[in-house]
Amino acid sequence: GYSSEYILVAERIKKRFGGLIAVDGATVKVRRKTITLLIGPNGSGKTTLLNVIAGFYKPDGGKVIFDGKDVTGWPPHKLYHLGMARTFQVPQPFYKLTVLENVLLAARGHPGESFAAPLQRSKWLPREEELVDKAFSILKLVGLIHLWDQPAGQLSGGQMKLLEIARVLMSGARMILMDEPIAGVNPTLAHEILQFLVKLRDQGITFFIIEHRLDIAMQYVDYVYAMARGRVIAEGKPEEVVSNPVVIDSYLGG
Ligand code: ADP
Repeated sequence: GYSSEYILVAERIKKRFGGLIAVDGATVKVRRKTITLLIGPNGSGKTTLLNVIAGFYKPDGGKVIFDGKDVTGWPPHKLYHLGMARTFQVPQPFYKLTVLENVLLAARGHPGESFAAPLQRSKWLPREEELVDKAFSILKLVGLIHLWDQPAGQLSGGQMKLLEIARVLMSGARMILMDEPIAGVNPTLAHEILQFLVKLRDQGITFFIIEHRLDIAMQYVDYVYAMARGRVIAEGKPEEVVSNPVVIDSYLGG
């Protein structure tokens, strides 16, 4: 049915800033276990729409349905607990703590201070041990396992992005909203990050992302929405949407 096919339905979303209509009745539906991409020229309303979906802005119109539940106007922390997260929602890493400790700190309801203490397996409680196992399996998945005991401050920019994803996964998110996951990273790493999102998608995580580097992103995403002037002007398979003249025109300021 409708709610089981789509993890997210944002319907006829409107958002104004004073006299400016940033999002003007945009509808997007995100299928479960997909990487869905939102594109469009600067100022077309992508970030505002993402912020409405993630609860940072209340819409002036429209509905947000997450997992079959009407969550319109819910604050971000409530959505976070339902399993929808934006990567930047996870607190900044602690540069002096290790990679593993940073992942552990992103767990919900973690006992906090015990992880800041030296890691001594003999002192862990069963719940902690479970979390540590989970953290290690996530680090393995993102390819940071070999760095588990390095201070986060020593990671490269790209590795920091992977750590950010590891931490949002540790939070239990099932749907992850991302703003430009490959901005500012070299092409090799950009491909690695996207391949990694594909792997996570295959394990059941849904991604809704804004990305400008279409040349790289196109080959990894399942579905694309294109916005212009606050509206959705095209949707479909990546190759269809990028070759759509209406979409090309919108980038040329048409
Ligand atoms: P995009 O992410 O596609 O570049 P945005 O959603 O950031 O577009 O912006 C859409 C429009 O809304 C732009 O005209 C922008 O200037 C305006 N806008 C975005 N955020 C705010 C805000 N907090 N206050 C006022 N205007 C905003």
